Amino acid sequence: MSDQLLSVAKGAKGFMPEDEGQALYEAAFEAAVGVPGPLVEIGSYCGKSAVYVGAAAREAGRVLFSVDHHRGSEENQAGWEHYDPSIVDPDTGLIDTLPFFRKTISAAGLHDFVVPVVGDSITVAANWSTPLCFLFIDGGHGEEPAWNDYRSWSRKVAPGGTLAIHDVFENPADGGRPPYEIYREAISSREFEETSERGSLRILRRLG
Ligand code: SAH
Ligand code: MG
Repeated sequence: MSDQLLSVAKGAKGFMPEDEGQALYEAAFEAAVGVPGPLVEIGSYCGKSAVYVGAAAREAGRVLFSVDHHRGSEENQAGWEHYDPSIVDPDTGLIDTLPFFRKTISAAGLHDFVVPVVGDSITVAANWSTPLCFLFIDGGHGEEPAWNDYRSWSRKVAPGGTLAIHDVFENPADGGRPPYEIYREAISSREFEETSERGSLRILRRLG
């Protein structure tokens, strides 16, 4: 990944440490050169992770679809842990991260390789039939949104393709449970095997 893209990723708002972003980029590139199909990310926020995955898509000649309703997760709302008042649209009082996302992707020069899909993850999933080379789940981290994302998107990963899950914490003291629970479910379903980890990022390969 170029220094220019790295500095755009570093400057974007978000919760993706640089070493995990690099690991995400490497996993996405490997999947995209080895398996047909597009890449999908659930949870665009302000585009930080999309720069890493989008860079891999560009280098492999693929496209990343980044899905988000851009209204924030529960944990982004006022009074919660990850609240940032600067992402609230003053006209509506609602979170709107889409303008930040667009700025990040433009600054990275990735607009031809990263397509924003603005809508609810489950609605998009219900209408999505193209098998994926790479899926990154980093949407809502509550019980219901995390399980919904896992159940509706994970089976769309092509055999040999990659499922990446963020914010997986083995120790409950380090963070919420749902991302860890869906990661455990992916392993125990025997549909995926773990190939690597970096920080709270888990990389799994689809079997079969
Ligand atoms: N991957 C980003 C961070 C994503 S934060 C990064 O590393 O930079 C989680 C995002 O999930 C938020 O932007 C929120 O709006 C989105 N989200 C939560 N629930 C969603 C749902 N049901 N459909 C679409 N997006 C959702
Ligand atoms: Mg995350």
